[in-house]
Amino acid sequence: METPYGDTSKIINVLTKDKGMIGIMCSNVKSIKNPLRTKTLKFTYGYFHINYNENKLSKLVDVDIIDNLTNIRNDITLISYMSYITDLTYQVLKQNNEPDIYNMFISTVLKLNENKNPLILTNILELKYLDYLGVGLNLDCCVKCGNKTNIVTLDPDEGGYICQHCYTNEKILDPKSIKLIRMYYLVDINSISDISIKTFIANEINYFLDKYYDRYTGLYLKSKDFLKKINNLSN
Ligand SMILES: [Zn+2]
Repeated sequence: METPYGDTSKIINVLTKDKGMIGIMCSNVKSIKNPLRTKTLKFTYGYFHINYNENKLSKLVDVDIIDNLTNIRNDITLISYMSYITDLTYQVLKQNNEPDIYNMFISTVLKLNENKNPLILTNILELKYLDYLGVGLNLDCCVKCGNKTNIVTLDPDEGGYICQHCYTNEKILDPKSIKLIRMYYLVDINSISDISIKTFIANEINYFLDKYYDRYTGLYLKSKDFLKKINNLSN
């Protein structure tokens, strides 16, 4: 995120490992001759050398790029995913400042840049963020009676498993989707190499998460609407 400051300067918001989101004043970086111009663009992953100010804006000194995220920058779909997970991460950080959030976000970004399936990666991150948003899924037993067996579906409105005994008219998810949602929760993002999940299963999981987010997180993000539009166009 960036805000112009006069004709030549700007303020950027940088997600950091230790301090969460911080504002950095970048003086004169808009000048063509300034090497920092391209290093302070949106979606830059690097070491930001700054004069840190606890309560005010910090001042940029230099940037060492770690990864240019070239694949993301060159793909409109990936940019949309990147915008959404960045916005989402910002919202999660407002509620919880755990360093794990930074690590999961960066791992996801790097996998996106490796052209791993963006929908699946985004869903994995969304699932992992639920705990930090205080609305973690109960994946141990039926949400209505506590039964651990005869689970028939996972319901976004009820917020967890439904057993055969308690089932009324909830949408039945494919058993593969139910199993994968649990795996998404547990997987280490860094360890993801090849993901092969059938499209209808991936879409069903996405549908579940979309409903669950609407119902339980109270978050509304424009970047998500935009992402949905892009995905509808390409389906
Ligand atoms: Zn039950």
